[in-house]
Amino acid sequence: LPQPKLDLPTPVDTITFHDIPLLIKRDDLIACEFSGNKARKLYAYFKQNIQTPIVSYGSNQSNAMYSLSALAKLKSVEFVYFTHHIPSYLKQNPIGNYHEALKNGMQIFESDEPEQSAQNHDGVYIPEGGASSMAEEGVKLLANEIIEYAAEHRIGDLNIFLPSGTGTTALYLQKHLPFKVYTTECVGDAAYLKKQFSLLEQDEQYHPTILSLKKKYHFGKLYKELYDIWLQLRKSTDIEFEMLYDPKGFLTVAHHREEFSNHLMYIHGGGLQGNSSMLKRYQRRYG
Ligand SMILES: *Cc1c(COP(=O)(O)O)cnc(C)c1O
Repeated sequence: LPQPKLDLPTPVDTITFHDIPLLIKRDDLIACEFSGNKARKLYAYFKQNIQTPIVSYGSNQSNAMYSLSALAKLKSVEFVYFTHHIPSYLKQNPIGNYHEALKNGMQIFESDEPEQSAQNHDGVYIPEGGASSMAEEGVKLLANEIIEYAAEHRIGDLNIFLPSGTGTTALYLQKHLPFKVYTTECVGDAAYLKKQFSLLEQDEQYHPTILSLKKKYHFGKLYKELYDIWLQLRKSTDIEFEMLYDPKGFLTVAHHREEFSNHLMYIHGGGLQGNSSMLKRYQRRYG
């Protein structure tokens, strides 16, 4: 079976952010074509013998869309993807995840009901963002790497932070870690995220702790303070962070710093192949 080469376990680096010492779990280094988070969530599929099209749906710049296109390419099957709308500007000037997924052979269709269209299509159906119990196996591997790191460094009071989309990664991490997992909502509000947790796991003792900010940030929109945080991180560390999730993540860490124990590990979820499109938009607006 064709399998991606994954560099596991991923390393842990240390940085200081707003005077907060942070451990950075470098899941961005897992494998370039499945950067980070999605490699963990799709791990169970890597081992499967897939012979029918891979079918999914979601936004036209999603990190999951790109990673699924890489999975389909690896398995030599079609990748069929449904989305609400593709702006004509993007069609004429493909960029970011959309561009990379097309290069991998993605067949993308506009649909008024993308979820329905995907479910009705023949093939291996993968829900938006890979939000399913199939993600548990790969995220459990991440949990085990963290447990080993903590044991090796004799850290007993480790806290974990990662920003959430569907919340799948944070949920399965909390389920398989003896440490407290914190997250913040990046897509939808805290109530949406809580509901996503419940869909995957009814027992609330396994639910991560959600930390929110007063201000509502709409996913994919541009905010000066989020751009500033990303620029600060780029200047003060050797690590490139992602632009949709990480800026909100770090803003939340700074705002809620009193919550955390001495050792805080931030999970870098990768997704850097999507940065080119966001960076262009930010530079156009703020220079
Ligand atoms: C997909 C993604 C997330 C969100 O993961 P969920 O499991 O859906 O919460 C966070 N960060 C990055 C970089 C991602 O690509």
